[in-house]
Amino acid sequence: MADTALMSIPGQVDPVPVARDITPRADGRIDLIGLPKDRIRDLFAEAGLDAKQAKLRAKQVFHWLYHRGVTDFAAMTDIAKTMRPWLTERFVVGRPNVVEAQHSTDGTRKWLLATDDGHEFEMVFIPDADRGTLCVSSQVGCTLNCRFCHTGTMKLVRNLTPGEIVGQVMLARDALGEWPNSSTSPREGGDLRQASAAPTEPPAFAGDHDDDDDFEYTSDGRLLTNIVMMGMGEPLYNFDNVKGALKLVMDGDGLALSKRRITLSTSGVVPMMDKCGEEIGINLAVSLHAVTKDIRDEIVPINKKYGIEELLQACADYPGASNARRITFEYVMLKDKNDSDDDARELVRLLKHYGLPAKVNLIPFNPWPGAPYECSTPERIRAFSNIVFEAGISAPVRTPRGRDIDAACGQLKTAAQKKSRAERDREAATAQSA
Ligand code: SAH
Ligand code: SF4
Repeated sequence: MADTALMSIPGQVDPVPVARDITPRADGRIDLIGLPKDRIRDLFAEAGLDAKQAKLRAKQVFHWLYHRGVTDFAAMTDIAKTMRPWLTERFVVGRPNVVEAQHSTDGTRKWLLATDDGHEFEMVFIPDADRGTLCVSSQVGCTLNCRFCHTGTMKLVRNLTPGEIVGQVMLARDALGEWPNSSTSPREGGDLRQASAAPTEPPAFAGDHDDDDDFEYTSDGRLLTNIVMMGMGEPLYNFDNVKGALKLVMDGDGLALSKRRITLSTSGVVPMMDKCGEEIGINLAVSLHAVTKDIRDEIVPINKKYGIEELLQACADYPGASNARRITFEYVMLKDKNDSDDDARELVRLLKHYGLPAKVNLIPFNPWPGAPYECSTPERIRAFSNIVFEAGISAPVRTPRGRDIDAACGQLKTAAQKKSRAERDREAATAQSA
């Protein structure tokens, strides 16, 4: 079994990503979520189906997983009845484990999730009048140590697999009740995971029936309309897995969400930006946060490796960026650090110098215990915003969402701060016996 322990971090700005597309399960079954259709076909073939059947079953199963949100093979009613237990013995359709779900007074929802091998991460859903945005994590923790970010203080990290990344979207759709009707309850056969312990042979091809014609799609009026890769982690340090997950999200046979509704935020992993535009094609957000080398080196340490000029040039070259598809520059407002009128003017100069189709998102700093900074005053933020706006660049101030449940930008932090379940249980037991 692969080692899935948390990796220690080899350096401040140069982590070694751990590529692992399937997290091993204790019961030996393989979780199909996150795997491309071809990979599912190959797994079915390795498990004993002939080529033709493997292809057909992969197509059917894929549809059930991503169009219907089904997690139980017993409910896949166009697959031969004899085949469903065969699938159940070898495969599962997983979701991240929910450790805790919280609701903010402003409607924001946050989930503390755990991988099958016990690592915790978070996802946040932010409802607005005209859209619902899911903020998805790409790593457990982050290796980059931006000084104002709580996630960056987590010492350990592992990359999330494609299944753990797309699994967040699946789980959100479960929680929001956004799968087509009549999809999740098995119509016959009950829960076949309880079926006979002995592995069955691949069943014969005959015996299929198709009663998959009595559901409605609810593609309109969905709550979950947008995805931002802005949860825990640096998505471009987990490129392959993020790409694999987003391909499933964008696939017309998968979750079928338009690439225009997906945004990836990076702290500035310059060598991966072009690849991101070419191979995934989603919107880009860049955590700029400062306009001078000194300050950006301090607050976003990856700047020591890829400086502001290099970063902005990579933005200018980002495939697909245009006035219709602007790059978002995120700028966290830190009191007396990066929030002066001069900073605002320099920001405008830089964006114009590189000819960037840009919008600026001003994020009031969200505090966390022990944070070394304070948020700029509302007056300062307004003055900064006005300077950028008057230069013809949109610069809205983001309203922090879900602050009461620590769901706002940069507040996501799990294991290190909140302790593991086991630790919590141990502490509770000690307190009780004392
Ligand atoms: N690692 C990626 C994406 C996750 S962070 C990145 O850095 O871009 C999402 C956004 O929240 C980033 O712009 C990040 O800089 C910002 N952020 C982090 N900590 C914050 C805090 N305490 N207050 C406000 N914004 C914060
Ligand atoms: Fe990592 Fe982004 Fe936080 Fe920086 S701001 S530590 S890159 S999650």
